[in-house]
Amino acid sequence: MASKKKAKELQKARYVPRGLAPCGHDVVRERLTKLAMAVRTGTPVALHHAYVFAGPDGIGKHTMAMWWAQELKCERHGGCGECPSCRQIMAGSHPDVVVLESEGQGKKIGIDPVRELIRKMSLRAQHSGPRFSVIRGAHLLSFEAQNAMLKLLEEPPGHAVIVLITPAVGGLLATVRSRCQVLRFDALSEAPLLSILEAAGVPPAEHKARVAACEGSAARALALDEEALAAREELIEAFEALRKDPFADLEELTRQLAEKSGNRDENLLVLFYWQMQKARSAARANAPETATLVAQAERTSATIRMLAAGVNAKVAIRDMLLDVRG
Ligand SMILES: [Zn+2]
Repeated sequence: MASKKKAKELQKARYVPRGLAPCGHDVVRERLTKLAMAVRTGTPVALHHAYVFAGPDGIGKHTMAMWWAQELKCERHGGCGECPSCRQIMAGSHPDVVVLESEGQGKKIGIDPVRELIRKMSLRAQHSGPRFSVIRGAHLLSFEAQNAMLKLLEEPPGHAVIVLITPAVGGLLATVRSRCQVLRFDALSEAPLLSILEAAGVPPAEHKARVAACEGSAARALALDEEALAAREELIEAFEALRKDPFADLEELTRQLAEKSGNRDENLLVLFYWQMQKARSAARANAPETATLVAQAERTSATIRMLAAGVNAKVAIRDMLLDVRG
């Protein structure tokens, strides 16, 4: 229980003071910095007004958007973090910066909040820099809501900037996508993940396991609780033992492991168990397919170990199926 509470606190931590300093995504960040600098210094620049920040959840797309708002609206030297504009953006109370998001659990964003956003974006900016709006989970915008936005994306009033954030660009209408510049964000590599964990105060002893299990998502690295980390380690150890001892009690071990893991792992475990049984009977009967069956079982076992170590499940399972089917 205590560890769950701690995980929640850590998750919250990503929004406090460090919240507006993005980690990783250097190419995107550099590009946005240049644009903001040009806007602030009045250098003529082709600042596009509509962007899609595309990439997996929990890797800092929203953080980057809010950081960019600060860069664009700062009253001093850009993202100073101290001027009234920067402070209001950090506090979520800047009159020129609007954030729209789903009410949760994949709920669609309807046309009414979008109309309200369009209205706000048509007002004159109260502070220096453009009006700035962010839509988190933009793929959740309803069909009507996306259509209602077309004019805003095409021709925003004044110098408005709109950022649509989504892990699923395919959920946006082609007419929306074509009006935006799409900036791709990749899963985070080890270095930014480590600095995020460090900044959030996660004990260094946990860093390695969290980085290995989070699939490049800082949000997941922070949210993994100690119990989940320990269960993953046990899973890996148990499979190692299984690999070394061909006479292990497979049925009992499979049952134990399935209890500890999620459905995805459980299905693979069942497959593994079935393949091992077939391979054993074939070996006892000296059947010619023994080698193939053993190879298949080993391939499944390797996949399960990769999953336990935190690799991308879709890719690992797809590769395994391709190998097994030959
Ligand atoms: Zn500032």
